[in-house]
Order: sequence, then structure tokens, then C-alpha cells
Amino acid sequence: MQPTLKNPKLWHEQAYVNGKWTASKSGKTFNVINPSTGDVIVALPEMSQEDVQIASGQALAAFEQWKKVSPKVRGSVIRKWAQLLLENAEDLGRILTTENGKPFAEAKGEIAFAASYLEFYCGEAERTYGDVIPSANPANRVFAIHQPIGVVACLTPWNFPAAMVTRKAGAAIAAGCTAIVKPAGETSLTALAIAYLGEQAGLPAGVLNVVTGMQNLAEIGKALCEDPNIRKLSFTGSTAVGKLLMRQCSSSLKKLSLELGGNSPFIIFDDCDLPATINALMGAKIRNSGQTCVCANRIYVQRGIYSEVCRLLVDQFSQVKCGDGFEDGVTVGPLTVQRGVEKVQAHIDDAVGKGARILFGGQAMDRTGYFFQPSVLADMSDRMLSHNEEIFGPVAALYPFDTEEEVLKMANNSEVGLGSYVCTNNLARVWRMAEGLEVGMVGVNTGVIAGGEIPFGGIKHSGFGVEGGKWGVKEFMITKSIVMSIP
Ligand code: NAD
Repeated sequence: MQPTLKNPKLWHEQAYVNGKWTASKSGKTFNVINPSTGDVIVALPEMSQEDVQIASGQALAAFEQWKKVSPKVRGSVIRKWAQLLLENAEDLGRILTTENGKPFAEAKGEIAFAASYLEFYCGEAERTYGDVIPSANPANRVFAIHQPIGVVACLTPWNFPAAMVTRKAGAAIAAGCTAIVKPAGETSLTALAIAYLGEQAGLPAGVLNVVTGMQNLAEIGKALCEDPNIRKLSFTGSTAVGKLLMRQCSSSLKKLSLELGGNSPFIIFDDCDLPATINALMGAKIRNSGQTCVCANRIYVQRGIYSEVCRLLVDQFSQVKCGDGFEDGVTVGPLTVQRGVEKVQAHIDDAVGKGARILFGGQAMDRTGYFFQPSVLADMSDRMLSHNEEIFGPVAALYPFDTEEEVLKMANNSEVGLGSYVCTNNLARVWRMAEGLEVGMVGVNTGVIAGGEIPFGGIKHSGFGVEGGKWGVKEFMITKSIVMSIP
């Protein structure tokens, strides 16, 4: 069912191409499901290669104009867009909770998080400075300038339906590019509402487009990858899909940013501030029901405080209220996709079969919707599935360790390298760990490592490219050299 909104204009049941709300060429649709109830919320256009080609042609035409707009003017539109997001945070949060499931307070928090990217990028548009380069040849003057790369495709996931749209498309548009957003089918309504606010803020037709689809995902993805009008593709999602997109982009040799799966170690040393650490861990673990790419996936606890941490976590988890994100006091919602419930159960069964102990929870909840009990597992080891893959659910998995050298090796024993966390009061250890961890991001005594001004990205099989901060905008620009001969 559609949520009640103060501003009903935020609700859109069509895709958005070249400033027009549009059905798919085929007339086909797909259903968006409320994960708390399993009910169909609405049917949205199921687009195809043909729709992508129309959008890319129009985004290219819009690029020819938008790239000429001064960074100051681009920035002022983006600033207005951020303001509109904040003014409509209540309604946007309502749409977001309805399709993603996260608690309403958390959904409103995501809108502020989404706006933080626009707030940063609107100023950054004016700071894409070039360089004057001392030339090796005294008769030459050498310059480097940055220019927008062109039309970009932004493929965004269902776990952050608002923030991933602004983090990618906001940066692209600030840089002077035009964008085609393809949100995860499960959570397209938030992206459409954000596009509507972009239009209200003054984005000209064709600068921001949203194509929708869920069943035709493979076709739409391939069409975006192979489209010669599109010069860059930015994707957040699983490593498997990231690799597929990279292969598909090779024929058109697109520039890529891939923010793929994580497997974050959360390392707790016995010299940490324990209450503050548990607090940070709870945030990094249960935020968005454990469905974040920088979620604490492997929790390493030094042996001397292992039993105490197990006890404290069980105590914390027993106070978590799991339910429909609109219910008062709920801190953990459902999983967003039904297949997530099966995946989390498979991870737990595998761990228990290999010697892990369930200290709390351990099962899907016996109620309508995609709910999984917040769970605590102890005595994990590197032979278990969830050591090598993200659990993507509200499951705290604890591994004991003895020494700093040992835990650094354990933490780096992963194909991926996105987020990580270290809790200790030893300053020298902070630096040894931060420099030694093979990841893109380190949180020290905190569970929050993302924001508009902070670079976000991974290494190894977590992908490449940096989003956020000054790096985020440059990702959507080319560097051009100009060598001038002075006779
Ligand atoms: P999936 O691999 O099927 O899809 C991941 C994302 O890629 C979705 O947003 C989906 O819309 C998109 N996608 C899928 N196939 C595509 C294609 N051929 N072309 C273009 N886009 C495509 O994964 P899933 O079942 O939704 O989730 C499985 C796991 O992936 C999760 O449990 C989690 O581990 C990981 N995941 C990570 C993130 C992240 O933020 N890094 C987001 C979503 C999922």
C-alpha cells in the first residue's frame, strides 16, 4: 500500500526520462514489494534495451548544454536539491521505509546522509581546479584541465535507496555530466522521488534520468554497459555483478567505478573502552538489518575479553526490537529481499555445522514479511561461509584472537577489502593496524565511516574508484593536457 505523504507529488509510478514521466515502450511493469508485509506496493515500468537507448540519446543531448553551464550555477541547483531533500525528509523516509523496510528514523537519517553528498558536491563543483605545469621545454606552457566525462550510468543498490543515488548522480551532475540512474528494482520509488526533487531544484530535462526494471535486469544492465553514448558506469552491488558489468563494459571501454561487496573485520582489543566499543559495534552491525557493505561481518575479539563481549552483545541483542519499520521503538526492520532470509539462514546453518555456537536468535522469524531474528554466533572460524562472504543480515559473528600480529593476518585473509574497524586505546597500535589493514576504509573507535566529505571505496575484489568528498566529483571527469608553444 502507498504511504500517506504530506507532499503527494513525491509519489511517482513511472520512469523519468528527459524531464518526462514515462511508461516502458513495451508497456510491461514489475511489482515493488513491501518487505514488512509482503504486499505489492505498486507496479513500475519494466524497461528494456530500447528504453535505455532513448534515455542515453536524450542524456547525450542534455550533456551538450549542461557541460557549458558554469560550475557556480550547477552548484546552486545542487544546493537547492539538497535543501529540498531535507525539507521532504519525512515523506522521503516514509517512501524509503515502505520499499526497503529499514526503521523510519533510520530512513530519515539516510535522507540526511543522502543530502550530505549533495551539500558537499555543490561546493566541489567550483573547485575542480586544473594545474599549470612547469614545462621541460622553455618555449612551451603546459596546463592540465578537468572536464566532465559525458553521460554516465549509475546503478544503485537496494540497501541505500537514497544515498547511493545522490552519492553517484550528484557527483556526476556537479562535474557537468548527465546521468542515467538505474536503481535496484526493489527500491526505485525513492530514486524517482529524488529525481522529482532534482527537477524542482532546477535540473534541466535530460540531466538526470531514472530508468526502472527488475525482471529485465540483465538486458538493461548489458544495454547500459554497451551503449556508446555512455562514457562511464558507476555501480554499487555484489562482486559477482560488478565483474559481469566490467566484462560487458569492455566492448565500449567505459571508465568504471565499482563499489562491490565487503567483509569488514571489526577488531576489539582488550585495551579498548568496552562500553563505547559495544555501542559502535551495535551501530556497525545492526544498521539497516546488517545489510550494508561496510557492516561488521567478522568480529574479532581478544581472548581476555571474549566471554565478556559475548555476554554484553547477547544483552544488547535481547533489547533490540525487530519489526515493521513504522512501529514505535523498532530498531531492526526486515531484510529487504526475500532471498536474503535464505542466505542468512544458510550462513548460520553452515557455521553451526562447522562448530559455531548460537548465543542468541538463529532463525527466520515466524511472521509475515522477510524478518530474521537478530542473532549472535560465537566461536567462528575461517572454514565457515560467512568468513568469506558478507552475511548481509543482523547476525553478529564472533572470532577469538590472541595477538595483534595474528588478528592483522586474520583480518587480511579475505578476497575483498572495503571497510574495517579497530577498537583500542593504544595510539601506536591504531597506526600499525590502520596502515596494515588491506582495505579502503578504517574506523577507529567508531562504527560510522561514511559521509559527504569522506572518501568511500575499496580495494581487492571490493572494486575500485572513490566516491564522496573531492575525489567523488573527479571520478566523473577526464584530465586533459594542453601544451602551448610560445614563439
Ligand atoms: P545481486 O548480485 O543479484 O544484485 C546486486 C545489485 O546488482 C542489485 O542492486 C541488482 O539490482 C543489480 N544487478 C543484478 N544483476 C544485474 C545485471 N545483470 N546488470 C545490472 N545490475 C544488476 O544481489 P542480491 O541478491 O540483490 O544481493 C546479493 C548479495 O549482494 C547481498 O547479500 C550482498 O552480499 C551483496 N550486495 C551488496 C551491496 C553493496 O552495497 N555493496 C548491495 C546489494 C547487495
